[in-house]
Amino acid sequence: MNYQQILNKASNKLQFKNFKSPKLDSELILAKTLNVSREEILLNLNKKINKSDLKKFNYYLNMRSNYKSIAHIINFKYFWKYKFFVDRNVLIPRPETELLIEKILEILQLSSNKNILDIGTGSGCIAISLIKERPNCFITAIDKSKKAIKVAKKNAEMHQVGKKVKFLNIDVDKYFSNKYDLIISNPPYIKNSELLNLDKDVKLNEPKLALSGGSSGLEILFKIINKCKMLLKNNGKIILEIGHKQGKELSRYLNLNGFNQTKIYKDLSGKDRCLVSIKNL
Ligand code: GLN
Repeated sequence: MNYQQILNKASNKLQFKNFKSPKLDSELILAKTLNVSREEILLNLNKKINKSDLKKFNYYLNMRSNYKSIAHIINFKYFWKYKFFVDRNVLIPRPETELLIEKILEILQLSSNKNILDIGTGSGCIAISLIKERPNCFITAIDKSKKAIKVAKKNAEMHQVGKKVKFLNIDVDKYFSNKYDLIISNPPYIKNSELLNLDKDVKLNEPKLALSGGSSGLEILFKIINKCKMLLKNNGKIILEIGHKQGKELSRYLNLNGFNQTKIYKDLSGKDRCLVSIKNL
């Protein structure tokens, strides 16, 4: 069989099970099998695959057809301008989260040397992308999962910023400081009752700790806002990723807690996704 034939066959199999991007998934799996880039596969569609590679390909394809995330099979995901290692201990970086990076870059000049905190850093995708864009800032990234911090550190090393971002394995509840100009977080914000409706590969593969925002979906967002009253300097800003129906309630909560000028921004699919607010106590 040549690459084209094997891709057609795999893609049909995944399509039959209603996967969203069967063709792309098959190409990424073949690239992983042969240890080459996806582009290389697409440029060599007439090349034949050998028996042992075919066996390996079918092994990965089976994983996928049993709903293992593609990012977990190939062990990476692109976010912003970089490739991040991911495993089951971290949330797979989402394209929507890039909106946070865009908003932060609008706030911080290129030469900025602000103190920044990333709460719940997971794979480290936000903190690492940010230090690359604003190299004079001082970024601390915390996560209560020890395994997530290990992944984030690995990514920071991979992108040569291991010494520039400070990673700490600590729960935000136990973290004390009062020096931050900017606090960023993409916290878990999904209602427990909605966890069951998530795509099967998200539900089966990604850490519940990174997804669940309690019964209201807002529990952790509220906790972070409260804690930021102490962690932020006066006039410091908070930048949060939020669920698309949470904007109003969060704006109200922020107002009651000494924040103002709350702005909400939509992602590419037109849904509220990012919130920026200023501490003004
Ligand atoms: N900060 C990480 C991300 O944006 C992890 C977020 C999380 O685990 N909720 O991908």
